[in-house]
Amino acid sequence: MASVSKKVLIIGSGLGSLATALRLTTHGYQVEILEKHHQAGGRLNQLKKDGFTFDVGPSFFSMSYEFTELFKYCKIPNPLQMNELNPVYSVYFAGKKEPYSIYKELDKLAQEFADIEPDFKAKAEKYLKSAGEIFHDTEHVIIKRNYDNLFQYAVALMTVPKKHAPKLIRSMWAELERHFDSEHVKVIFSLVAFFLGSTPFDTPAVYSLLNYTELKHDGYWNIKGGMYKIVEEIQKILINRGVKFHFNAEIASVSEANGKINGFTDTTGKVWNADIYVCNADAASFRGKILNRTKFSEAKLDKKHWTLAPFTIYLGVKGKLDNLHHHNYFLGSNFKQYADNIFKLSVNPEKPYYYVNASSKSNPDCAPEGCENLFILCPVPDRRYKNDWSDREALADTILKDMSERIGFDLIANRVTQTIYAPDDWEGMFNLYRGSGLGLAHGLSQVAAMRPKNKDEEFDNLYYVGASTVPGTGLPIVVIGSKLVTERILKDHNNSI
Ligand SMILES: Cc1cc2nc3c(=O)[nH]c(=O)nc-3n(C[C@H](O)[C@H](O)[C@H](O)COP(=O)(O)OP(=O)(O)OC[C@H]3O[C@@H](n4cnc5c(N)ncnc54)[C@H](O)[C@@H]3O)c2cc1C
Repeated sequence: MASVSKKVLIIGSGLGSLATALRLTTHGYQVEILEKHHQAGGRLNQLKKDGFTFDVGPSFFSMSYEFTELFKYCKIPNPLQMNELNPVYSVYFAGKKEPYSIYKELDKLAQEFADIEPDFKAKAEKYLKSAGEIFHDTEHVIIKRNYDNLFQYAVALMTVPKKHAPKLIRSMWAELERHFDSEHVKVIFSLVAFFLGSTPFDTPAVYSLLNYTELKHDGYWNIKGGMYKIVEEIQKILINRGVKFHFNAEIASVSEANGKINGFTDTTGKVWNADIYVCNADAASFRGKILNRTKFSEAKLDKKHWTLAPFTIYLGVKGKLDNLHHHNYFLGSNFKQYADNIFKLSVNPEKPYYYVNASSKSNPDCAPEGCENLFILCPVPDRRYKNDWSDREALADTILKDMSERIGFDLIANRVTQTIYAPDDWEGMFNLYRGSGLGLAHGLSQVAAMRPKNKDEEFDNLYYVGASTVPGTGLPIVVIGSKLVTERILKDHNNSI
C-alpha cells in the first residue's frame, strides 16, 4: 500500500462519505469532512426527543457482506452487530385483519399463502432461481465497476447471457404474472420496484433480482442498538485516525483554475482547500447548483426520473403494541390505481400506503419503559408535483387514524411525542433534490455508465460518492460506491490498491 499524505476534503458526511474516508485513510490520505447538518450520517441520521430515540431514515439493509468487506478492506474488526431479520417484514392489506409474515424459508412462506397461492413453494423456487441468475450474472460485470465511457458499458452488457434479454423488455409485474396467480403475492413481490423510483408496471423484469436478494441471497439486516450505530462506530474510527469533522458548514461555490479546483467556499465565505475533493452531496444537483453545469440546470434536473419523496413521522406512544412486528407495510386495496398515481398526484389521504418500523421491539433502549417508538414512512410525490406541505399535520393524523383502526390501538390518544418531516424538510436538511428520498431513480437510462459519473467531467481533482452517482442508492450500494471512487482516486493519483 502506498504511503501518501495528500489531503482530501469530503463535502457531506453521509454513509458514502464515511465509507470513502475509511478506505482513503487506510491508504494514508489525510481526510477532512465538511457537513451542512449538525451531525454526521446524512439520511442515515438520528433524532432524540422526549426520551425517545429514532433512526431518521434507513431501518434495514440488504447485502450485509458489503459492510463486512468495508471493514476487512480497512483492516479493522467489524464494530457492528448485524442482526438478520426473519420474518423479513409483515404486510397488512386493507380489509384483511391478519398480516402476512414474509419468511425467508419458502416452506414457511408457503404456509402464509396456503389459501391464496397453491404450489407457492415450487412457483417461488422457479421465479427466484431466474432472478438469482440475473443477480449473479450482473453483480460484478455490470454493477460493481467503473465506466470511463459508454463503449465500455456496451462491451460489459455483451458479456451478460442473452437469455436475460426478454426481461429488459418485460415489466416486473408481467414477470410476476407469469409465475403467480394471487394478487396479494404479486403485490408483495413487486414492492421493491418503488425503491428503484418506479412502479412494477414500468420497471423492467431484470429487477426481480431484488426479490432474490431479499428472500434467497443475503436477506435483510439491521443493527443492534439502532441503525445510527453505523455512523457512530465509523465516526469513532475516523476520529482516531485523525479525520476532522466540521458541522453546520455548507458549500455554496467553487473556485477553479486550469481544470483543477482550488477551493470550495461555504455560505459564510470561508474557503476550504485540499489536493483532492470528494462530493457526497447529490451528484446531479451539486453539478447544477454549485458547479453551474448547464447539463444539470434545474430545467434538466426536473426532466430526470427521481425516486419518491419521504413523508416521515417519528411517533412515541404510551403502551406496548404487541400485535405489531418490527417491519411492516400497510397497503390499500387499489394497488394499480395507487401505482399509477403515486409519482405525480398528491397523496390521497383516504388511502395512504405506508411502512412502519417499531425499532423498540428489538432495541428497548429507544423508548421509555412501557412505550414504543414508531417510524412511519409514507412515500409521496416530490416537490415538482406537490410543493406546499402545510397540510402535514392533517396528513399525519389521517395515517395515524388508518393505522390505529388496523392494529386496534389508538395511536393518537396515546401519542407522547411526534415529529414530522415532509419533503421540504428533507430537502432543507440534506439538500435532497425536490425532496426525493433515494436520489436519482434506477431506470435503465439512469444506471451504470448512464448515471452521473463518480469522476468529474472537467476537474481532475473532483470525485463523487453517494446515492445519485454509481452504482446507486441504498446503504450497501453506497458502500460499493465508496470502493469504486477509491479505486478511481488511487488510479488517478498513482497509488497501488
Ligand atoms: C426516509 C428514508 C428511508 C430510507 N430507508 C432505507 C433503508 O431502509 N435501507 C437502505 O438501504 N436505504 C434506505 N434509504 C436510502 C439511504 O438512506 C441512502 O441511499 C444513503 O443513506 C445515501 O447516502 P449518501 O452517501 O448518498 O449520503 P446522504 O445521506 O445523501 O448524505 C449527504 C450529506 O451531504 C450533506 N450535504 C449536501 N449538500 C451539502 C453542501 N453543499 N455542503 C455541505 N454538506 C452538504 C447533506 O447534509 C448530507 O448529510 C432511505 C432513505 C430515506 C430518505
